[in-house]
Order: sequence, then C-alpha cells, then structure tokens
Amino acid sequence: MAYEKILVINSGSSSLKFQLFDMTTETMLCKGLVERIGTEKAHLVFTPTGKAKYEEDVEAPSHSEAIRVVCDILVDSRFGVLKDFAEVSAIGHRVLHAGEEIKQPMLVDGNVKEIIRKYSLFGPLHNPANLAGIVACEEIFKGTPNVVVLDTQFHQTMPPEAYMYAIPMKFYKEDHLRKYGFHGTSHNFVAHAAAEFLKKPYDELNVVICHLGNGSSISAVKNGKCFDTTMGVTPLAGLMMGTRSGDVDPFVVMYMARKGYTPDQIDTILNKESGFKAMNGIGSADMRDTIAAAEAGNTDAQNALKMFAHRVALYVGGYYTLIGGADAVIFTGGIGENSFEARKMIVDRLNALGCFIDEEVNLKTRGTVAVVSTPESTLPAIVIPTNEELMIARETLRVLTQA
Ligand code: AMP
Repeated sequence: MAYEKILVINSGSSSLKFQLFDMTTETMLCKGLVERIGTEKAHLVFTPTGKAKYEEDVEAPSHSEAIRVVCDILVDSRFGVLKDFAEVSAIGHRVLHAGEEIKQPMLVDGNVKEIIRKYSLFGPLHNPANLAGIVACEEIFKGTPNVVVLDTQFHQTMPPEAYMYAIPMKFYKEDHLRKYGFHGTSHNFVAHAAAEFLKKPYDELNVVICHLGNGSSISAVKNGKCFDTTMGVTPLAGLMMGTRSGDVDPFVVMYMARKGYTPDQIDTILNKESGFKAMNGIGSADMRDTIAAAEAGNTDAQNALKMFAHRVALYVGGYYTLIGGADAVIFTGGIGENSFEARKMIVDRLNALGCFIDEEVNLKTRGTVAVVSTPESTLPAIVIPTNEELMIARETLRVLTQA
C-alpha cells in the first residue's frame, strides 16, 4: 500500500497546528492552526500551498471538534486540497515525553497512550494535549494509522555519562529523573541536512547543532548520534530562553521554596517569567524586540543578549571538545535561522575554535542554507533551516513502510 498523504499534528494545550504532505514528492499541500481551543473565540488559520491565507472563527470546544474543523477545511472544495479525508493515509503526532519507554517513532496502541498519559508528570501541559489530539484523530479518522514521534527520541542515544544526574540513584530508578533532551525532531532533521550539505556519510557526522528559538537547545552529534544535549528532564534546562531560565543553581529553587513560593509558583517563575522576558528590561520574550531595545541603548537588553551568546558559546565549546572536534557548528530555529545579530555575537565567542563570522554573508542570510563563517575558518558555522513537520511525516512513513 502506498502512503501518499500524511497529516502532521502538533497539538498544544489550547492550539492544534497541522500540515499535510504529499510524500511522493515531500511537498507540503497546506498548513494551518486552530487556536484558542476550548474558548468562545476558537479560530482557524489555513494556508493551502500557493494560495492566500484563509481565516475564520470556528466552534472548537475540545480537541475533537478542532480535528473535525481540520477535516472539513481539508475537503472544502474552495481550496481543493483533498476530495475526501479518507485520502489521508496516516497521521504523525508530535509528542513531548515518554521517558525511556518510547525510543522510536511508533504506531499508536493502548500501551503507547498509557505511556503518554504516565509521562504527563514531566509534561503537564503538552502530554495531555498530545494525547487529546491522538484520541480525536482515532475517533474521526477511523482506521487511519496514527504514529507518535517523540521530542526526546533523537537524544535516546546519549550515554549515561551525559544523561545521569549525580543525585541518589533511586531518583533515576524509581522516578525516572535523568536528562532526556527535546527538539529532537529538529536536531534529527538538521543533522541529516548537515550530512547532505557537507557530503559526509551520516554515521560519520560530527556537529554541534544550536536550535535557537523561543525555546532553545544545543545537541552534540557524534558519528550521527546524539552524544549530549542541553535540555533535561524537561525543556527548562540549559540555555537562557524566551521565558525560561535555563540552568540555575538548584539552590535558587530551594531558596524560593523557603521564601514561601509554592512548587507551582516556582514552576511559573522559571518557565514563564524568566529568560529574556525577565532580563531585557522590556518584558518581552522576543529576540527581535530585545535586539531593537539593545540598539536603542537599553543596557538590560544589551546584557541579556550577551548572557544568551555567552551560554550558547559555553555549550558549543564544551560539546566540541567532548565529540573530539566538529565538522561544523549549525544554527537553526527562529533565531538561528534569522538573527544575524545573535549569530555574530555567538560566533565572535567561538574564535578560539577557529570559527570567525563572515559579516557580509551573515548579514544577508535569513532562513536559507548558508555558510556564515569566513573561508579561513577551520570550524565552519552553517545556517540550516529546520523542518520538524516534514521530519515527522518522514518518520511516520518510515514506521508504516517497515510495519
Ligand atoms: P521559533 O520559536 O523557532 O519560532 O523562534 C522564535 C524566535 O525567533 C523569536 O524570539 C523571534 O524574535 C526570533 N526571530 C524570528 N525572526 C527573527 C529575525 N528576523 N531576527 C531576529 N530574531 C528573529
């Protein structure tokens, strides 16, 4: 059986993003978003490839109705995307967390759903939403295979020396506390694209990948496998992010608790009120706003940018050493692909590794593949746009064709 059309679902707590691919040519047929699910103001944004964006208010009190909205728009004759939603041969779902229990993309069954439910503990916002998206698809696309692709999956090859925390072992054995890593689909896509660009066999690829966006993480890829990454049990660890603190001394958490903040309040502070939003003096989580404020002379914003670049360079240097030298350092994600300012600040801190910015190329590189380091650099810096949805569609196809 040919699996031509694959729908990719990225289900969040109050939104549901989707893209439909024709996998015979890997082309995106359309993309869209149902936002504010569960409110009176649910809204659909839909863009068929090559046509104008379409928007309307919709009824979507739950994920199930949101999926129904998606089905209806896919077969709406005004857009000509599908004649019948039975043409969707499989659905790939982005899922945040499954601990160590799902290491590969998999067909959904009762056990897979149970594991996703269990790891809501580590993904209280994402996992229930991911599950709701899966259940809704099972109800509406009856008989169509559903495949899960985990955010953690690419990082499952890390050795224990990278993923263990030096805390009493029972917290690993009984509570599953260890580093898992996230953005795996993006790191996986970019690693394969890098091997192709560098003309290297994939299993000989050594790169440090910086996925820099609203959420940011870095991975060290050694011989095509993830060797270490910056995020932890959850996506809170590692780099400074839009609203997340990244690494702090765990004492900070104890201190806040002793001051009377509850676990939920501390969670909110570190996940939603920290990072750029806390540091740039303008209360915005956005890189563009931070850069504009820094250029206007705001010293908090200038300092926030330096903190970000400092920490990225710290990890790139460490990972470069751990994997025995790298073929390249790769930039991806909204910031990595688009912000020449951020890339320059980071690469200027990598000079000791033989990586120097090419000002001219860097300045004009936005969202395209390009080497942004000078030709003399011994460590090239390369921009490679990510495509998580296409990677999920590829992985879904792989599961189905192997089944
Ligand atoms: P993402 O989460 O990958 O969508 O990335 C979002 C981040 O990318 C936000 O902080 C944006 O400000 C940033 N970003 C997008 N475009 C640009 C740009 N042209 N220059 C600087 N930052 C950008």
